Amino acid sequence: MTAQTVRTTPLPRPARPARTARHGFSTQQVHAGADVDPTGHGDRVAPVHVSAGFRFEDASDAAARFSGEDDGFVYSRIANPTTAALERRLAALEGGVEALVVGSGQAAITTALLGLLQSGDHLLASDHLYEGSRGLFAENFARFGIEVDFVHDHADPGAWRRLLRPTTRALFAESLSNPRNEVLDVVAVAGVAHGAGVPLVVDNTLATPYLLRPLEHGADVVVHSASKFLSGHGTALGGVVVVGSGFGWDRLDDAGAPRFPQLAEPSAMLGGRSWTDLHGERAYAQHARHHVAARFGPVLSPFSAFLVQQGVETLSLRMAQHCRSAALLAGWLERHPGVARVDHASLASSPSHLRARRYLPRGSGSVLAVTLRGGAPAARRFIEALQLFSHMTHLGDVRSLVVHPASTTHAHRTEAERERAGVHPGTVRLSVGIEDVEDLQADLRRALVAAELATAHGDSLEGSLEGGAA
Ligand SMILES: *Cc1c(COP(=O)(O)O)cnc(C)c1O
Repeated sequence: MTAQTVRTTPLPRPARPARTARHGFSTQQVHAGADVDPTGHGDRVAPVHVSAGFRFEDASDAAARFSGEDDGFVYSRIANPTTAALERRLAALEGGVEALVVGSGQAAITTALLGLLQSGDHLLASDHLYEGSRGLFAENFARFGIEVDFVHDHADPGAWRRLLRPTTRALFAESLSNPRNEVLDVVAVAGVAHGAGVPLVVDNTLATPYLLRPLEHGADVVVHSASKFLSGHGTALGGVVVVGSGFGWDRLDDAGAPRFPQLAEPSAMLGGRSWTDLHGERAYAQHARHHVAARFGPVLSPFSAFLVQQGVETLSLRMAQHCRSAALLAGWLERHPGVARVDHASLASSPSHLRARRYLPRGSGSVLAVTLRGGAPAARRFIEALQLFSHMTHLGDVRSLVVHPASTTHAHRTEAERERAGVHPGTVRLSVGIEDVEDLQADLRRALVAAELATAHGDSLEGSLEGGAA
């Protein structure tokens, strides 16, 4: 027998993520879900399995894997050993029962919500959202006949409750929003969702499970852009949907009909059985994998899964440094005479400060808004004078990043909408990296001087950053 024939069939996927709950976060981020010897060759690191499909042993094995009777791999659009290893790890880190990785954060949000919503249903979402999510809901979902309302004051449970409809099938919010660094009251909003018999889906991208595990506070589904802090190095796009336990996907509505008929009614794909029948509390996750993601097709490349997994192994170390530096810089910037306002939940001036103390004891993340007194001309000079901060629209990278939201990410919003989102002409968004904080402070100090000189000299660029010029 040659080494190549040691294992002719792929390892079966564990039905559930490996539980290493007895270990601390940093231990889990390097060990959870890992096979000790994934190929039989002594590998210690999950290898990159770049195989589109997986060979069946015989005809009955093929039929068993297709029917779901056997957990072996079939085709990488559904599952792959490399992406499966990442799924087990992320499920463990978020405290979920199952995870599904997909090609981007947008794909994760789309998959999670299309698993819950159909034409005629209503989605209730916080107003403080990543622009890609807002557009997806308001424009793309609208074309599928899915209606959406946005809650302006997401800190007020009554504001959520007032916008509920009999057709509401999901609530959606970000645990930590950008650029204002607002903290969600997960317990309160989960309470509203459960009162209406529907799940709360939380985008936990900016907090990461190191700072907050929304499932432990009552959320039912967590989504991430893995392109940000989870990957951490700006090298891969990815997304993940993590599903918690205990929601009860077979629940009925007031009229006694299944609230989620796509999960509780017989499915042709399952030979007439239902997802809830066959999979119990894993029904929604299994349906999202086999019926939503496998059909719409937003696959995560195994190579990208490997890169995200590499990033995840140092998540706690990076997050601790990100948060420490961001809090130090936020406090210093807030006292600087050229700065009108800093939005970071670590600051006592933040409307989210008390919620941050309750939900984010390890730090408030590293994405913050800094509004310069000199308005758009000052913001422009400031950004162009920075040397360590890269000028780009990304966040959660080991490198510090800066962008001017009013003229880029939020350029197509009305001025009133921008103001409500905390995006003023003089606002810049910082994503504080893991460089030495003294170096970042020196870079910011120099850029603030440049911004002040620009505005003191009656710079004629007033308003020049409005309207889309980057
Ligand atoms: C970036 C981001 C997304 C979208 O993720 P992609 O990986 O870029 O598709 C979604 N939500 C939040 C909060 C983000 O920051």
